[in-house]
Amino acid sequence: MVCLNLPPSERYKLENVYLVGIIPGPKKTKNDQINRILTHLVDDLQTLWDPGFLIPTPSMPAGRKIRGALIPLVCDLPGGNEVAGAPDHNATKPCAYCEVTLASLDYVEEPFPPRICAKVLAHGESWRDAETEDVRRNLESQGGGRWSELMRLSYWDPVSYKVLDTMHMLLEGMGNRHCRKTWGMDPLRLDGDGQTLAPAIIQDPVRRTECETVIRTGNRKQISDLGLETLRSLCVERELPWGVVLGEKTLPKVWQHDADVITPSWIGRAPKYAGTAGTGTLKADEWRNFLTISLVFSLPQQWLGAGERYQSLLENFMHLVACIEYASLRTISEKTIAAYEAHTLAYLRGHLRLFRGKVLSIYQHSSLHLPDFMRRFGPVHAWRAFPFERYNGIMHSINTNNKIGAIFFAGKYLC
Ligand SMILES: [Zn+2]
Repeated sequence: MVCLNLPPSERYKLENVYLVGIIPGPKKTKNDQINRILTHLVDDLQTLWDPGFLIPTPSMPAGRKIRGALIPLVCDLPGGNEVAGAPDHNATKPCAYCEVTLASLDYVEEPFPPRICAKVLAHGESWRDAETEDVRRNLESQGGGRWSELMRLSYWDPVSYKVLDTMHMLLEGMGNRHCRKTWGMDPLRLDGDGQTLAPAIIQDPVRRTECETVIRTGNRKQISDLGLETLRSLCVERELPWGVVLGEKTLPKVWQHDADVITPSWIGRAPKYAGTAGTGTLKADEWRNFLTISLVFSLPQQWLGAGERYQSLLENFMHLVACIEYASLRTISEKTIAAYEAHTLAYLRGHLRLFRGKVLSIYQHSSLHLPDFMRRFGPVHAWRAFPFERYNGIMHSINTNNKIGAIFFAGKYLC
C-alpha cells in the first residue's frame, strides 16, 4: 500500500511503501480464498477509519484525530476481481463497472447502465450468507460477483473505488493484444494486410460440408488437422480476417528502421528483435516503446501509399497509440480526457470494422471506463501499477529456502 497524501515523487520510494503481506504459494489463491487474508487487513483499516487514532502533536498535545481510508484499489483485471469480489472476465456480466453482457462486449456506441453500489453490496452479502455452493454459483451466474472482505469497510464503494491498472489495460490488454492476436505478430509467417491474400477455395462440396461440420462441432485438434489452407479458405468465405499483418516482411523492416531511431537517454528501447522467440516476452515498458516508437516510426514508411486497406490499418493503429499517449499524460484536463475518449472509440470502432470476427476483450471494453477513473483519481502516473511491478521484481530476486517460517528454526541450529 502507498499513502496518497504523499506527493507522487515520494509515495513510491521503497521506504514509504507498506508491504501488507505475502500470500504463500505454491499456487495463487482462487475464488474467495483471498478473503482469509484480507480479513485481518480490513479489521485494521476499519479501525483506521472509525474511530481513527489520536496522535499528539506540539500544537495539540492531547492528540490530533487521524483517519485513513483505502481508496483506490489498483489491480490488474483478475487480481482486482478476486480482491474486490467482482465478476470474472468470462461471467454473464463481466464488467465491474457496468451492466454489459458477455454477448454485448462488441457494442461500443452507447454506454451500458452503470452498476449500482448498493446493489453490488447487497449481492455480495447474499453470496456470503448463502448456505450452499450451488446457491453461490447461481448468484454468480446471475451476473454478480462474490463477497469481498473489503465490503465490511463502512465507506467501501466496490464500483467507484476499484480501478483497473492502465499498464495492464492499455499496454498488455490492448497494445500487446493488437500486435499478437489482431495482427498475428510472428516473423516466421507470411504477412499481408490481414485479409486479401486469396487462398484456394474448397471446390469439392462433400469436402466443404465435412470441413464445416468440423468447424461447428470439432475439438481444437480436429480443427487444427484441417490444415492452414482449408482454414484460410473458410475464413475468407465468411469474410473473417485470417492473415498476419506483422509477419516475415513487415517485422524485419521494423527492426531495421529501429536502428535509425535515436531516443533520449531516459527512454528505454524495445528489444532488438521484438516478436521473436529468442527475445522472450516483452515487459509492459518494452511494449510501450515498441508500440509508440518503433511501430510509429516504421509502419508509415512501409504502408503509406500501399493501398486503402493499409491506410485504414495505420489509422486504426494510430488511434490506439493516441489512447496510450493521452492516458499517460502527467497533466490532464477535461479536454485531454475527451481526446482520449474520442481516440478510444475510434480505435474500437475501427477494430470491429477491420477485423470482423475478432471480438473485443473485457480489457478493450474497460478502456471506455478509464475516463471515469481519471476524473476520480487524476493522471494515471499517480496510481498506476508500474512501481508495484518493480517491487515484485525485487521480491522475486530475494533468495528463500521455500520453507515458510522455517528460517527461525534453521537459526536455532545454526547459532
Ligand atoms: Zn463496462
